[in-house]
Amino acid sequence: MKMFGCVFCQVAAHERPAKILYEDPHCLVLEDINPKAPVHLLVIPRKHIPSLNENLENDKDLLGHMMTVVARAAKEKGIDGTGYRTVINTNAEAGQTVFHLHFHILGGRVLHWPPG
Ligand code: AMP
Ligand code: ZN
Repeated sequence: MKMFGCVFCQVAAHERPAKILYEDPHCLVLEDINPKAPVHLLVIPRKHIPSLNENLENDKDLLGHMMTVVARAAKEKGIDGTGYRTVINTNAEAGQTVFHLHFHILGGRVLHWPPG
């Protein structure tokens, strides 16, 4: 389940300091260490899934649950009304740098479209 040397596995195991806002048996919400917006949270599964490119056939419940956690976190941060963006970067050209699946939640400012 846990991948040696993986930053987000370490966060999930409380082996690396992080500003964790929420956690349950399946996933966690933490503040991004290098925020790109006034609100920049990450939702990460406890399970080490490298990216959206994996075979996720058996993880549909987990992924669905994480989306409900996204919405709740946005509401708790007060950006549900103004708006927020949920992003999953996959592989190099999308800018994925941490190969443990994570959903970005960005909000608190106007977000331009299309993204760069
Ligand atoms: P990505 O580029 O989509 O893979 O996103 C990785 C994100 O993780 C970046 O926004 C980083 O700022 C963030 N990040 C990396 N290490 C940590 C950490 N230890 N705690 C919180 N966020 C982190
Ligand atoms: Zn991991």
